[in-house]
Amino acid sequence: IEQTAYQNDKLAMLGKISASIAHEIRNPLTSIRGFIQLLRPHLVSLGKDEYARIILTEIDRANDIIYEFLNSSKPSAPETKIVSVSSLLKEVVLLTESEALMKGCQINLHTDKTPPAFISVDVKQIKQVILNIIKNALDAINEHHDENITGMIDISARDTGKHINICISDNGGGMDQNTLNHLFNPFFTTKESGTGLGLSVSYSIIRNHGGTIAVDSQVGAGTEFVITFPKLDVSEV
Ligand code: ADP
Repeated sequence: IEQTAYQNDKLAMLGKISASIAHEIRNPLTSIRGFIQLLRPHLVSLGKDEYARIILTEIDRANDIIYEFLNSSKPSAPETKIVSVSSLLKEVVLLTESEALMKGCQINLHTDKTPPAFISVDVKQIKQVILNIIKNALDAINEHHDENITGMIDISARDTGKHINICISDNGGGMDQNTLNHLFNPFFTTKESGTGLGLSVSYSIIRNHGGTIAVDSQVGAGTEFVITFPKLDVSEV
């Protein structure tokens, strides 16, 4: 599936728009944060420190979301580092575990079967790509929840000799042909509150790394994403 120049232009424009919106939202958030801190002693004296704590946590979360969004909508040249595939995957899975648990979904990481493999990547960006894919899998499992089937996400890595493949599969609702044709397009979403950006941004990130991202899906059966990275020579590790 090729992303056209038009789609890349769209993504670049989005990067600019979101950067200015993010900036405008951050300013009021900073002043809200400051005033809550000023009010905090009063809330404490009313025995309501918990409220202040929640407000501050949520403001920080909003800031984090803006930061992530800013980063994600303008994929820059990767700042690469050599990392172990299994430790990278472990870290990402750890981030998604609480959400998976809440949704009654099981995430199985099969790194013990993986031979030690290293890739040269921008860790933050690649974590974001894998997170996007896992979140989509969780959504797909959630939307088509069948009481009799445990939602399952399987993550593994394979060394094909020339490449390192990371496979992420789910037993969610799968995708129809129309979705498969468009899923990497910016703004394409089938979700009520989706942005349709996760996969288009992921696509750009993987391409910037000299890799590929492929998908195989069947309605009612599930979906598998395979990210392929160039394999490093042993001498490079
Ligand atoms: P968003 O999640 O905001 O919709 P994405 O770019 O991440 O944006 O995904 C685009 C669309 O691809 C989703 O709306 C969904 O229809 C489809 N999709 C992605 N991953 C999966 C999956 N694992 N199972 C089923 N559909 C998926």
